[in-house]
Amino acid sequence: MTKICISIVAETVESIYEKTKTALRLADLVEVRLDHVRDIKKEDIIKILVKSPENIIVACRSISCGGNYGGDEESRMALLFEAIERGAGYIDIEIESSKQDVMEIISKAKERKTKIILSHHDFKKTPKFNELQKSYDEMNSFQPDMIKIATFAESINDCFKIFELLKGKENFIAIAMGVRGWMTRILAQKYGSAITYASLEPGNASAPGQITFDELVNLYDFKGQNKDTKVLGVIGEHAENSKSKFLHNPNFRRLGLNYVYFPMKVRPSELAEFMHNFRMLGFAGSAVTVPHKEKIVDFIDGLDETAEKIGATNTLVVREEKILGFNTDYIGALEALKEKTSLQSKKALVIGAGGAARAIIYALKKEGCEITIVNRTLDKAKALAEEFETDCDEISELRQLIRKSDIIINTTSVGMNQNPEESLVPEEFFTGKQIVMDIVYNPIETKLIRYARIRGCQTITGDRMLMYQAIGQFKHWTGKNLDIDQINEDAKKLLE
Ligand code: NAP
Repeated sequence: MTKICISIVAETVESIYEKTKTALRLADLVEVRLDHVRDIKKEDIIKILVKSPENIIVACRSISCGGNYGGDEESRMALLFEAIERGAGYIDIEIESSKQDVMEIISKAKERKTKIILSHHDFKKTPKFNELQKSYDEMNSFQPDMIKIATFAESINDCFKIFELLKGKENFIAIAMGVRGWMTRILAQKYGSAITYASLEPGNASAPGQITFDELVNLYDFKGQNKDTKVLGVIGEHAENSKSKFLHNPNFRRLGLNYVYFPMKVRPSELAEFMHNFRMLGFAGSAVTVPHKEKIVDFIDGLDETAEKIGATNTLVVREEKILGFNTDYIGALEALKEKTSLQSKKALVIGAGGAARAIIYALKKEGCEITIVNRTLDKAKALAEEFETDCDEISELRQLIRKSDIIINTTSVGMNQNPEESLVPEEFFTGKQIVMDIVYNPIETKLIRYARIRGCQTITGDRMLMYQAIGQFKHWTGKNLDIDQINEDAKKLLE
């Protein structure tokens, strides 16, 4: 069983003690980072290790090892020796310390039943697999109780080196740090890391990419996971902003399904390698978001009829080792629109010509709308208009086009939380007669929606489509129908 360790970073002895006390009530282990405590002295150790010292990992990283301790090696070692004297359950010491210090700490710890975690951190990169294995072997030659390797994930594909490294090893902790390494923290149980680290509260992480204990346990159900847990995620360049984890994870739990779903942050240049790894590790499926909905088709085994017609997929499902693509965006958009309007014979203006636009145009067309497409890159709008037999126009004609339309749908990513102050439509373009939908859902009220609302238009926010497309995805992955009232409640929480 993987233990959960809350890592505590604080500047004063009093604060570290208080936080440790709280963390001990929650987690299996607590790591105290002495190096962050201002003017830490040997005498302070006893004040920190008052409660359950056997469940406490003491670490004191020097600046050269990525920590905060500016004192000399002698005083750093004195702190660690004192922690052993005071009954610390574990000492984390870096392999970069002198060989003699490492050996002395190990032998002193043995006398006192303190366990030694021999660690190596690389805050810049994840080296090649062979180099990681070499580091492991070197550390293993000291015969510590545990080995820890934490490297920085420059790419999500670095996570797979970590999983490979974990294979067949016991008492080994391996983590890829940073947002691209989240997977190694969330799936530590499945892939057999001895410990996964979490922070006590947001903004208090001791390492890049460390998620909170609350998120790990309550959102990703870490304690309920095991080797058979089915892995799902959302593949996107900015997947960390996706809110769909708040829709899917609680429902797996409610229905007693052994699945976990989390953001998979993948750059376009990493997609091919990522999909290879996805296949090799037998992930169960995924959602697909910007900008991969069209390109990902090159790396899967087939599309269902609707996704084929749309030419984009937002949902991958693995069936009998084949990765199949579906599209639930189209049904999501339809359901969201139908909450406010009928569609037959309405004039719809679609802004954008990406993957989501394709699904929405397909849906509007099916329902009998007259469609005009505008897009920053006119050629893409033209190509789409030709393919779906609709009109298209220059984006510079937006004002006139809006006046003539019943329904306006922004399908571009403009207004997302990377650029929340942007709107492709100025406020004065809306006349109050249009129904305006923005499919961007983070933030829920985009600038475009705000402008439309101020001008008296009916508005449909992106969370409505998100909710309906998620219901379709859930069904594809698990075969189960979600309770609509429940998911409405979940969607409301997204608005908080
Ligand atoms: P995509 O395939 O990458 O397409 C992006 C579209 O946005 C293209 O038309 C692009 O124009 C346009 N665009 C990007 N930056 C722009 C800028 N600065 N100015 C003008 N146009 C710009 O992405 P997608 O998959 O269609 O997703 C688009 C958005 O919809 C994302 O924010 C996504 O989160 C959201 N979405 C929401 C839901 C939901 O359920 N609510 C579902 C799907 C998608 P060019 O062609 O000129 O590059």
